[in-house]
Amino acid sequence: MFTRLVPVYLGHVPEAKEETAVDKLWKEYSKSLSDFDDLTLARWCSQTLGQLRGRTWRLSHPLVGAYRLAAQLAHDRQIWLQRLVNLPPGYLEASCCRAPLLPLLTRDVGPSGLICMHCNDTAVATEQIPGDLPDALRKWSEMYAPVHDVAHWDEERRRQSTDFDAEFEAAAQRVEEFLADAATDLVPRLLEHYPAVVWEDQDECLEVRPEDVLL
Ligand SMILES: [Zn+2]
Repeated sequence: MFTRLVPVYLGHVPEAKEETAVDKLWKEYSKSLSDFDDLTLARWCSQTLGQLRGRTWRLSHPLVGAYRLAAQLAHDRQIWLQRLVNLPPGYLEASCCRAPLLPLLTRDVGPSGLICMHCNDTAVATEQIPGDLPDALRKWSEMYAPVHDVAHWDEERRRQSTDFDAEFEAAAQRVEEFLADAATDLVPRLLEHYPAVVWEDQDECLEVRPEDVLL
């Protein structure tokens, strides 16, 4: 389950974490969509998927943010199970929740596969991704993980470093490069197999923001 705190309302607040000010804001955003009846919501989702088709998208893109709010509301209301509208052209059904398959690439792709934008579960297991992408994605994820871990070093590990701040900054800069590499190489290759692909363009633990990832 993809429950990372991103500046997007994830439908529920993970129990272990306090609701942040950003969560509250996204909940407020989500309220305006909750006025949509089921059919209106289904049509809006279907039409927006049509507009997302054929391109790669940053997770931080406002259209993706709006879609994610609607998608998670649609998931809560089981809109796609009700089949109020047909799957938009070009989209296949996701096996996780039967919504149209819109995969999200995250740094955890190695162990977790591609994430479903609708239910936050694994939409495509890594080994089920076509072509030579499983190996390339696993390799990228394995290179990324130890760099990300710098943000989670405990006190003792930090003390062993001569200059932890510099090490943290260096890790953040490497991650900016990892994300840019994925966006320019791996994500377009994924787009050959899926109608649209979203990629996570931030690393909140290393304080890498979307605007730090330059393409
Ligand atoms: Zn799903």
